[in-house]
Amino acid sequence: MRTEPAVEVVGLVKRYGTKTAVDGLDLTVARGAVTAVLGPNGAGKTTTVEICEGYRRADAGTVRVLGLDPVADAAALRPRIGVMLQSGGVYPGARADEMLRHTAGLHAHPVDVDLLIERLGLGSCGRTAYRRLSGGQQQRLALAMAVVGRPELVFLDEPTAGLDPQARRATWDLVRELRQDGVSTVLTTHFMDEAEQLADDVAIIDGGRVIARGTPEELCRGGAENTLRFTGRPGLDVTSLLKALPADSAATELTPGTYRVDGKVGPQLLATVASWCAQHGVMPDAIAVERHTLEDVFLELTGKELRA
Ligand code: ATP
Repeated sequence: MRTEPAVEVVGLVKRYGTKTAVDGLDLTVARGAVTAVLGPNGAGKTTTVEICEGYRRADAGTVRVLGLDPVADAAALRPRIGVMLQSGGVYPGARADEMLRHTAGLHAHPVDVDLLIERLGLGSCGRTAYRRLSGGQQQRLALAMAVVGRPELVFLDEPTAGLDPQARRATWDLVRELRQDGVSTVLTTHFMDEAEQLADDVAIIDGGRVIARGTPEELCRGGAENTLRFTGRPGLDVTSLLKALPADSAATELTPGTYRVDGKVGPQLLATVASWCAQHGVMPDAIAVERHTLEDVFLELTGKELRA
């Protein structure tokens, strides 16, 4: 029974010239779970993941992958991990099925190649040269190559970028199946819904450090969950509503006829708002407790301005 985490990164530092891309980053990836690594452009995600994959060397800190050093133990690690890169790593002239069968042949217990081709909708392009595949087909082939060796740990770097909705769903199903089979997954993505759908654990990276960590539910259980929104006729007297609410609450008319109540949202607050509405002859068209999405949390933590 293995107890060490799938990945353990402590105090990782990576510099490119004067630029510090990763700045003392700590990250633990649990076995058998899907860990999503999120962050704005340039946050240091790819650098971190590539160090874990053994493609780059760290300037400081320690990295253990399946208990091994990704550079010193690369030969031992290679057959045990699957890597899906954003691009490259495939001979442009090779046929899709050739590539996949070749990769499968390098592993002791590969998955059924034909089944994988079918699962990822690659059947019609098996005999096509890699460079002639569409972007989405290339993505799916890269995913197939990452998982065909039945890895213990798989790194998926933006696996659904540029995919159509059907291919996106097929990719999600495959990630869920990997999880059921006990595979550990590190998923880098810019799609917050993807992280919400798939991840057991989320690490948000910014400025080369992990700035937030938790399950999607834990991260979403933030401030905006404490919001109640209702719609009614425009111009209601929010000052009077505010007087009816507990001291730490706020009431605003966001747009004409849309009201937002911030505070400790629970049955009591809901009852107070409903009672105030009854007293003022207001019949709300809709009343709802707003749940923070992962995207809200992400933007709150990393800011809304564009990254260079
Ligand atoms: P993205 O979401 O855009 O893929 P990221 O979070 O993966 O971004 P990295 O690719 O790790 O970010 O880049 C982190 C920082 O390091 C960026 O400022 C980037 O410009 C810089 N960087 C990355 N690779 C190199 C390199 N080979 N040489 C110089 N600077 C680099």
